[in-house]
Amino acid sequence: MLCPACKANNNKVIDSRLTEGGMAIRRRRICQSCGRRFTTKERVEEELRLTVVKASAQRVPYDRDKILSGVERACTKLDITEDDLQQLVDRVEEDLFNNHDREVTTEQIGFYVSRQLRQLHPVAYVRFMSVYRKYGTVDEFIEEITDVRERVAHESPAQQSLFEA
Ligand SMILES: [Zn+2]
Repeated sequence: MLCPACKANNNKVIDSRLTEGGMAIRRRRICQSCGRRFTTKERVEEELRLTVVKASAQRVPYDRDKILSGVERACTKLDITEDDLQQLVDRVEEDLFNNHDREVTTEQIGFYVSRQLRQLHPVAYVRFMSVYRKYGTVDEFIEEITDVRERVAHESPAQQSLFEA
């Protein structure tokens, strides 16, 4: 496994744990050349058989990349690393595979993603919610932003400037 930063091939596993309800192992590694920490994941080869039920009632196989591209879009131009995104999707998958064994709705996936994004970055969260909830009215959208603003102001005043446009 090559280091994503310096491409060296000497790294040490510092933490391993089961994820996806025991279907995968996540390993935290540290590069012994440059000190970069990164995460790898080993899965059983058999495809995970979770089915996603869309709002249209159409059923499609679960696809991690779709979740990843959704959060990437929400995080565009924010200071969030690829590693952060991968770990966020890992946590979403833990929720998914711990709570659903055959089917999950896009609505439920959206809920898990929003919960993680809310912790990661308030702007990414609001962007994601604007799509996920398909805001019926401008009022609802503003209500959501106001709510997040208040929370951000409370937790870290410095980030509030992100909302001043
Ligand atoms: Zn390295």
